[in-house]
Amino acid sequence: MSRPGSPGTQPGPEQDSAQPATAAAAAVRAASATPADPAQALAELHAGNRRFVTGAPHHPNQDAGHRAAVADGQHPFAVIVGCSDSRLAAEIIFDRGLGDLFVVRTAGHTVGPEVLGSVEYAVTILGTPLVVVLGHDSCGAVQAARAADATGTPPPGHLPAVVDAVVPSLRRAAAEGVDDIDRIVDIHIGCTVEAMLDRSAVLAAEVAAGRCAVVGMSYRLAAGEARVVASVPAHLDAVDGARAATDGAHAPAAAAAVA
Ligand SMILES: [Zn+2]
Repeated sequence: MSRPGSPGTQPGPEQDSAQPATAAAAAVRAASATPADPAQALAELHAGNRRFVTGAPHHPNQDAGHRAAVADGQHPFAVIVGCSDSRLAAEIIFDRGLGDLFVVRTAGHTVGPEVLGSVEYAVTILGTPLVVVLGHDSCGAVQAARAADATGTPPPGHLPAVVDAVVPSLRRAAAEGVDDIDRIVDIHIGCTVEAMLDRSAVLAAEVAAGRCAVVGMSYRLAAGEARVVASVPAHLDAVDGARAATDGAHAPAAAAAVA
């Protein structure tokens, strides 16, 4: 079993789901050394999501031996900045385990200072090569922001912090003539990618140096599929052409200029 951080190891091949579960899981564990660059990391997420979608997850890196191995240190290969929605558990939908993903979740994947600080920690201290903004269809936070914006009635408590963070995405969607809620979600994912790179000079510098990439992924609750809808640098979403469809892709202009 490999430990996280093993240098220069390529992601392993897809396993045949017809193999006995224990053998398949062992093979995945043996081949699942930490991806070393953004493209490898994205490919690993795509592979895990495919296993999840097809109902053949291998649950790598969830055994007692791996738990003990990663107690000495962590080298997650991706930061997931995801919506808090209970149906969007990162380790499940990407079929990963302990030590693989550094996860930060807020309603509507809104990014305040604590979120940006957490991302910067992972990228600069832990050396994580990929940041993923993970949104989803029928997002309640986006719907709530849309309702509050339409009625002009602010929600109670701290909810305006979420609404206010989503409103610029609603404005972008309106300017593009987009009214469908799920297309608005995809625009909001792209706007979140853009906002992170605009607000975090540390993250932008890591991306400009080629040590990191920021990708936006849109998840479908029923199908379980996560597809790329934004990518900085732009070429990264071509890693898996079959799934990283360019249809509806939203490449944030300001963020793309960073790369
Ligand atoms: Zn949501």
